[in-house]
Amino acid sequence: MYSHNQSLFPLRFPRVLVWLGVFLVLAYIGLGWLIKSLLILIALLLVAPFLALVAVRWWLQRHLIQGECPVCHTSLTAVGPQDLVCPACREPLQVQSGKFVRLAPTNTIDVQAVEVQPPNHF
Ligand SMILES: [Zn+2]
Repeated sequence: MYSHNQSLFPLRFPRVLVWLGVFLVLAYIGLGWLIKSLLILIALLLVAPFLALVAVRWWLQRHLIQGECPVCHTSLTAVGPQDLVCPACREPLQVQSGKFVRLAPTNTIDVQAVEVQPPNHF
C-alpha cells in the first residue's frame, strides 16, 4: 500500500508529463481515436452549461409574458400561453397576443363605465 505522501513514480515527474506520456503511448499503439474522443467529450462538457444557459434565456424571452391585470392593474408575470387568475382581484385572465385580457364567460358583454359631465348652459 502507498501512503498519502508516497508517489507511484519514484522520480517526481510532473503530472502533465505523465499524462502526456500516457497519451503518446496510446497514440503509438493506435488508440489516438480514444484520446480524440475523450478531448471532444471534455470540450462538450465544458461548453454544455453555457449552451444550456443561452437556450434557457432564449426560451424565456419568447415565452415570458409581463403585463398588468386589466381589472385592478396589478403587475403580472406568466410563462407561456395559459389561463391564469389574478392574485390580487381573483379575476380569471387569458393571454392574447402577449397581453392579459379578461376571460369572460360566453354571452357576457364587457362594458366600460364612462363618466358623463352635465351640460353647463342651464
Ligand atoms: Zn387583478
